[in-house]
Amino acid sequence: PVQLFLVPTPIGNLKDITFRAIEVLKSVDVILAEDTRTTGKLLKHYEIQRPLQSYHIFNEHKTVERLIERLKKGEVMALVSDAGTPGISDPGFLLVRAAKDVGIEVNCLPGPTAFVPALVNSGLPNDRFTFEGFLPHKKGRKTRIESLLEESRTMIFYESPHRLMKTLEQFAENFGKDRMASVSRELTKVFEENVRGTLEELIEYYKENPIKGEIVIVLQGVGKNV
Ligand code: SAM
Repeated sequence: PVQLFLVPTPIGNLKDITFRAIEVLKSVDVILAEDTRTTGKLLKHYEIQRPLQSYHIFNEHKTVERLIERLKKGEVMALVSDAGTPGISDPGFLLVRAAKDVGIEVNCLPGPTAFVPALVNSGLPNDRFTFEGFLPHKKGRKTRIESLLEESRTMIFYESPHRLMKTLEQFAENFGKDRMASVSRELTKVFEENVRGTLEELIEYYKENPIKGEIVIVLQGVGKNV
């Protein structure tokens, strides 16, 4: 039987949660949450009353060992993050790997994640793509961007709004200002917006319309006609 569930939660719109996700959350012994306050609100909304325990990046290594011991004794757990799918640019990987290593059955439910709607909304080729997550902020950033110069698949990046301009400008410098891209912000929320254009057009647009909220950048691969 499954002992560790990874449960995706909404990335904005509270209605984006599956019946099964709610059922699983109601059934487990404990819910591991990145931020117990954020998850507490979601649980309250769906009248889920299960014990919450914090599981975040700062204590991930230390916590994993203890959790594995408890799982071995038979506890059933669900891991959630603040938003979207746990493990996708969020804590989760270390626990899943450790559980698999000792033969504990793990199951990730399908559900919300920001990069899929951003990719599909972009209108850029999506038959092949690469998920790049967050670029390094300082050290290794240039090297990472340079490693993508020959990438022909569509690339997906998570980025914070205050770094959007810098990133678009670096992309224009490295990939050329005519490369197509798309910026999705506030997906599933009231002010959702998906803007597509060349890097040059996007830079112009965001000079006029300073961006707020969460964003995903989707970038055309090299040599693709779109
Ligand atoms: N686990 C999440 C997932 O499955 O997408 C990602 C968590 S990561 C810490 C947060 C980043 O995801 C944000 O900086 C942004 O790039 C992206 N993101 C999350 N929610 C979003 C939304 N509603 N609209 C646009 N981007 C979002």
